[in-house]
Amino acid sequence: MKNNRVLFASLSLAAVLFSGFATPLFRPAPVKELAVTAANLTMYWIDTEGGAATLLVTPAGESVLIDTGNPGGRDAERIFQVARNVAGLKQIDHLVTTHWHIDHYGGAAELAQKIPIIEVIDKGVPASLPEDQNFARNIKPYQDMAVKKRSLIKPNETIKLQRLAKGLPNLTIRFVGVDKKFVAVTKAVKSAETCENATDKAPDTSDNANSTVLVMDYGPFRFFDGGDLTWNIEKNLVCPDNLVGTVDVFQVNHHGLDQSNNPLLIKNLSPTVSIMNNGTRKGGGPETITTLRNTPSIQAAYQLHKNIRVDSQFNTQEPYIANLEENCKANYIKLSVAPDGKKYTVSIPATNHQKTFTTKTVH
Ligand SMILES: [Zn+2]
Repeated sequence: MKNNRVLFASLSLAAVLFSGFATPLFRPAPVKELAVTAANLTMYWIDTEGGAATLLVTPAGESVLIDTGNPGGRDAERIFQVARNVAGLKQIDHLVTTHWHIDHYGGAAELAQKIPIIEVIDKGVPASLPEDQNFARNIKPYQDMAVKKRSLIKPNETIKLQRLAKGLPNLTIRFVGVDKKFVAVTKAVKSAETCENATDKAPDTSDNANSTVLVMDYGPFRFFDGGDLTWNIEKNLVCPDNLVGTVDVFQVNHHGLDQSNNPLLIKNLSPTVSIMNNGTRKGGGPETITTLRNTPSIQAAYQLHKNIRVDSQFNTQEPYIANLEENCKANYIKLSVAPDGKKYTVSIPATNHQKTFTTKTVH
């Protein structure tokens, strides 16, 4: 598949270049972009206004979507636009739903009307959800959509992905765990940050605490997505042993809310880049922003939105924010990992922001 794409891109480029000498219709830019990105691993953080929708596209052109934003049409359409028109996808090969809150599964059924979803991976739908009186009604469209497409998540299992072209590094997307049960995805290492003085927050009885945690490795590159995992359970990932190791890119948990993002977790993961799927008035809590600022490994902290609440001094620097205005254009954040996994570029195409980072060599 990938080889065909590269070949096609090269042929198209050659055709355009050749015809370009004879005709004024010479438009090289889009073709060049395709040729450059064809063998990259690409990720997109799609704006669902404080929900979650993270799209991964492998160098083989296979797609994994983690969460689908809210119901109501807007988020499904935004995901569809990025999937089809930006990533060039004809289907979503694997949908992972991290937990049973509507800002994470709400757009799934609507999305499936627009683009085929082949496999649905989740932790199993509970009979009821204490924090959602309307759960049975809310989940029904998802349940109907997922019939005969279901795979259940188990800790330490990986998503079955197509083999990549020869010469490319290994790609794995592994589940660290669900429902508060975790396994070590790396040789468990002693935590660098001390666990003894950790302070807990009030226990979280919601499904956030049961969020799916996954790690994607592409050669040396590592990405962490912990859904909406909350403070006390985050600690279990790194205390007494760090089950994840360090990461390159950390998707900030729970939209950056302060019930989540325990500094113990973030400092032990020691990310180079953080990406927060916050809304204008959701997430991006003062405590979380402060923790990200005080994490020495972080070179760039991205946000999907500028937080415009009264505590708006708690934001990252403006070049790292995809959407500055409340009435936003739903700009997405893109990340492209080089074919050898050794470098990656984070960009906000709408603002022309682009920054390249070197992958850690030891996790
Ligand atoms: Zn959420």
